[in-house]
Order: sequence, then C-alpha cells, then structure tokens
Amino acid sequence: MFKYYIYLVYHISLYYFYFLIVNSNILLKYYFIYDDGDVMTEINHNNKKSKNIDINNIDIDKSNINCNKIPSSKNKNIIKTIDKNIIDNIYSDGFPIAQYGLYIKRVKHYKTFKIPVDAGFTCPNKDGTLDTKGCIFCPKMGRPISVKYCNTKYPLKEQIEKQIEKQKNKGIEKFYIYFYPGTNTYGTPNKLKELWDFALSYPDVIGLSIGTRPDCLEDEKLDILEDYVNEGYEIWIDLGIQTMHQRTLNILNRRHKVSDTVRTILECKKRGIFVCGHVILGLPNETWDDMMKTAKILSKLEIDALKIYPLVVIQNTELENLYWRGEYKTLDKKQYIKLVCDFLERLSPYVLIQRLSKDKTPDEIKISPEWNLHRLNILNEVSNELKRRNTKQGVYYQIEKN
Ligand code: SF4
Repeated sequence: MFKYYIYLVYHISLYYFYFLIVNSNILLKYYFIYDDGDVMTEINHNNKKSKNIDINNIDIDKSNINCNKIPSSKNKNIIKTIDKNIIDNIYSDGFPIAQYGLYIKRVKHYKTFKIPVDAGFTCPNKDGTLDTKGCIFCPKMGRPISVKYCNTKYPLKEQIEKQIEKQKNKGIEKFYIYFYPGTNTYGTPNKLKELWDFALSYPDVIGLSIGTRPDCLEDEKLDILEDYVNEGYEIWIDLGIQTMHQRTLNILNRRHKVSDTVRTILECKKRGIFVCGHVILGLPNETWDDMMKTAKILSKLEIDALKIYPLVVIQNTELENLYWRGEYKTLDKKQYIKLVCDFLERLSPYVLIQRLSKDKTPDEIKISPEWNLHRLNILNEVSNELKRRNTKQGVYYQIEKN
C-alpha cells in the first residue's frame, strides 16, 4: 500500500511539474519557435545588449572561412520564378491559401532555413536623415524582437556560424541569410556588397533575404543584387509596405511615398529579385475598402509573396500614446480573421503567403492586442474560415479583374 502511495505521489508530481512548464509564460516569454514559411526560427528575447552600430564601420572578420562563393551550377533547386502550376496544385489538394511553406516543400528537395542576423543597420527615419521619431509603431530604442544569435553583441561571422551549426545538427541542408532588424540596405553600395558577399561565401548558403523600406533600394544596390541572381543565388527583399495609401503612410510617419513602393517592386521584378511585402491590417483610419484596395494593387503589381499581420501596440512608441489617449483601438481576433479572409479573397491567387500574423512580441513590451498572435494558430483559423465560406485566396480577384 505504501509503495502504491509513493508511486502515486511520484506521478502526480511529474504531471504537476509538466503542467507548470507548459502553462507558464516563462518559456513563451524567453524562448519560443516561430515558423517563417518553411523556416523555423528560434527566438530568444534577450535583446538588452543589442546595439545600433554604423553599418559603414562594420569590420567583417573573414578569417577561417571559405570566401569563395559557390558556382551557380551548384545552386540547384533555387526558385527562379514562381510556378503557377504548383500553386494550382496546392489549391487542388484542398488548401485555400497559397502557403509559401507548402510551395517550397514542393519545389525544393532539401530542407532550408532562414538565418536571421543583425548587422547593426539603423534607419533613415530614426537617425535624423528623414526624421528622428521613426514610424509610429516602431520602438524608439532597441530592437523589439531578438533572436539569440541575431544580435550585434556577436560578430556577424559568429551569428551565422552558430546558427548554421545548430540547424545542421537538425538536418537542415541549405540556408538563406536573413538581414532582419533595421533598414538593411541603408549603407553605401560598396559596404553592402562586402556584407552580402560575406554572407554568400558560406558553402551552404543559397541566397539572401533582406528587410528594408521602399525608399532605400537605389539602382546601384539593385544592380549588385541582380548580379547575385545571375550567379544563381535566390535573393528576396522583405519590403515594409504596410499599405498602398499615402494618407495612411503619412499617419504612420513612414516618410516615403507609395510611388517608392511601386518602383521598388517593379525594379526587383525586372531583375529577378523576389519581393515579399509586409502588409498591416487595422491601421489608423483605414477603411475596409482601403485595405481591399491594397490587396488589389499589390496583386496587379504581381508581388511574389506577402506577410500580413495586425497592428500591434508596443511600449515606447508613438502608437502607444495614441492608444492610451483612446485615439487608436486594435482589432479583436474575430475582426482580424474576417479581414484577413476578405483580403485573401481579393488578392491574386498566385501571391505566396509567408505568414498571417505578427512575430510573437514579448509580453513585457506588448500593450495590445491581448489575443494569441501565434502564426500557426491564426493560419488555422483563417483556413477554417475560408473553408466555412467555401472560398479561397483569389476568388474575388479573378472576378473583379475582368
Ligand atoms: S522604417 Fe522600419 S526601422 Fe525605420 S522607423 Fe519605420 S519601422 Fe522602424
């Protein structure tokens, strides 16, 4: 009987411990995994030591690595254009959304991973070139999200190598280097080329993903990127579009024009550079019609992919002030799911969707919304809603196009 009692206590304790871990915010706050298309990225919110540095003064340590880029003939299975037949097959298999992750699985025969790196880029909207205040949703200081080795406290070489080593142990074969925080084309063409050459010098790196704003990709920089495309690399620009309405861009204090966005998308397309636009739903003063028009314009521009997310109020932003003054209210989850479905229905069926939610913002800096923004959660809810409506991405785009 005593033995049975000990056995029972032991198992109850184990269960209790497991319950505590799974339900506590400890893991969610400091360590979680998010899915970027087909890419899983590990996040660690230990960003306190991250610092902004002048990109033009970055000293790239090239020691101990093979700096010869891979000949293009070795870069098999990179995407050169988006294959509409493969997207049609995704719909035929019953998926209502042209998910980037599904697409990649069907075109590549190896596992890939985006290595996020922080090369210390600042932004012309914050360093005084255009403004010092930045966009109203962007924190005035620091990086809102940081990945353990995506941090300027580590040299770029270490950021890349540590992450590649870790992912290789998990069976990932090929990598993209994702220049992530800040405006990652805000530097001289020479310095950028040095940085990009360095990133591409790793034998298993097949391309770049570069986060930037629409007014920071001048012809000279585009020419360098086009050369990489011609050498057989896959180059993606993660473009902060947010909206295709100038009135809203002004409210957001973006300090660039809609025409910059149009030009950048068209120039990239001309050069074989892929564009993944970032679009925010629920921006201040935007109507349903405004948001649907953004879907329509981006479809007509034949943008390659989108990341769509709700506007999130975080600490230390101008948006936070608007929020506390009652001048801005975030969307509730039901409103957001409905809006995303409406948006997708009016978007071209051939725009790949990389994600439908915002990166998990640390609880300690997130003000609103309070609902779960986890991308897989939102993806499931949006897919279910489209199935319930008996529609899919692009249904109304086809009708309205004619
Ligand atoms: S462009 Fe990007 S980095 Fe610059 S202020 Fe706006 S959100 Fe922040």
